[in-house]
Amino acid sequence: MNKKQFEELKEEIVLYPDSILHQKCEKHVMFGDGLKVITDDMFEKMKKFRGVGLAAPQIGLSETFFVVNVTGKPDGNMVFVNPVVTPVGKMVEGLEGCLSFPDISVLCKRAKKCIIKYLDVSGELKELETSGLLARVIQHENDHINGVTIDSRMTLTDKVMNKKMLQFLEKIAKEAEKIGV
Ligand code: ZN
Repeated sequence: MNKKQFEELKEEIVLYPDSILHQKCEKHVMFGDGLKVITDDMFEKMKKFRGVGLAAPQIGLSETFFVVNVTGKPDGNMVFVNPVVTPVGKMVEGLEGCLSFPDISVLCKRAKKCIIKYLDVSGELKELETSGLLARVIQHENDHINGVTIDSRMTLTDKVMNKKMLQFLEKIAKEAEKIGV
């Protein structure tokens, strides 16, 4: 990621080590048009920065919802509100990135499949059983609304490998604090 891309990302996405990313979110209660405006904006940000999922705390809202799109097409947009995720089957390793951790990737173990019970954007109860990339992204985003981010899933090797970037993000956050932004 170049400097310009990083500056844009920093304006629109909450980055590590912001404390909101490490808080358990409050249950979300607003549905319909109000929520649609917020999630449409999240889909736009996600597309702009080439993410496949974005959780509410990553845009500064400590509430239990997230958006996912693993196809990159408009009909692939999915909104999950107040989800209950049940991992199913064996654990598989896969490389994960996160828009709040630019240029960092971590090998994470996730269940191959999962069942998710959730409310959609209009508050309707839904259930989905899925596997593959979608199951992985759902588990990653569900971590976010529980205040869990990929740094807590890093092994010692991951921490050493990503040390420079983590320290850079910590430094930027400290400087922003100093000038009060
Ligand atoms: Zn993430």
